[in-house]
Amino acid sequence: MKAAVVRDSVDGYVDIKDVTLRPIEHGEALVKVEYCGLCHTDLHVAAGDFGAVPGRIIGHEGVGRVIQVADDVDNLKIGDRVSIAWFFKGCGHCEFCNTGRETLCRNVKNSGFTVDGAMAEEVIVDANYAVKVPEELDPIEATSLTCAGVTMYKALKVGDTRPGQWVEVVGAGGLGNLAVQFAHNVFGAHVVAVDGNEQKLQAAKDNGAEIGIDRHDPDVAEQIQAKVGGVHNAQVTAVNAAAFTTSVNALRPDGKLVAVALPKGDMALNIDKTVLDGIQVAGSLVGTRQDLAETFQFGAEGKVKPIVHTRKLEEINDIIDEMKAGKIVGRMVVDFTK
Ligand SMILES: [Zn+2]
Ligand SMILES: [Zn+2]
Repeated sequence: MKAAVVRDSVDGYVDIKDVTLRPIEHGEALVKVEYCGLCHTDLHVAAGDFGAVPGRIIGHEGVGRVIQVADDVDNLKIGDRVSIAWFFKGCGHCEFCNTGRETLCRNVKNSGFTVDGAMAEEVIVDANYAVKVPEELDPIEATSLTCAGVTMYKALKVGDTRPGQWVEVVGAGGLGNLAVQFAHNVFGAHVVAVDGNEQKLQAAKDNGAEIGIDRHDPDVAEQIQAKVGGVHNAQVTAVNAAAFTTSVNALRPDGKLVAVALPKGDMALNIDKTVLDGIQVAGSLVGTRQDLAETFQFGAEGKVKPIVHTRKLEEINDIIDEMKAGKIVGRMVVDFTK
């Protein structure tokens, strides 16, 4: 079967190769992939940024149907549609796995990095960890919910978002646009979107953001304080360290800053503000199986809709170039159904 694998030179691109998967073992299932989105995380894997894994099949935004199950598997059957997410599996018995925080497991396996991923015609999954995709949900949209969607849904939970509250979404790109949709349509919150790109701000407004602010304005935090009295939580999806500093100053007392993006460097916290206003800062990383199941259900109900476009596997290195050039709006999804 055809698969996109990290090159021996680990140069940031992939080779399309004929690969034979090992037979499935106890607790596993074999999935025929229908669609798999290409994510910036895949580009980091292909470039060796998290450690060199030549020969590894990339891909963690996969959706497909089960075509084979091991004898001892009873929660999946042939024909079920399942997802292949970055959180491939946890150890299942540590402090974090046992207390609903499985994505923090120190022995986590990640699809398309520490185990072979879904940018291939077939992929092996652990049946206990492969989250089912509802039939009512478009499988192409499901690929993006598997990664960006669940990431923002979880981050809004980490921010303790409540109905009627104000949420600042910093960075209105792929993650930010979904954050706006979840905040507005699922959590019933009001949204201030901050971005330097006018089209992205307009898209945020079209998806429910009441206020849009240009990030180049010198007084972003002051504007937010003046307009809404500060936000209850800020979701920082912008890949620049300055966005974190500004966002702390946009919070109201007892506000929460939720760090989602991963720019290099440190974030500067105003200590006075943090102490006197009781500010909390939390990181948030993808989501658990339960978070993903809930995310899919909201997608199936039409409450969130990622922007997706389908492409051919043969075009994958072109897509990588387009992503590096920042040319893409929405997510490119490789179609394995044709
Ligand atoms: Zn991803
Ligand atoms: Zn664990």
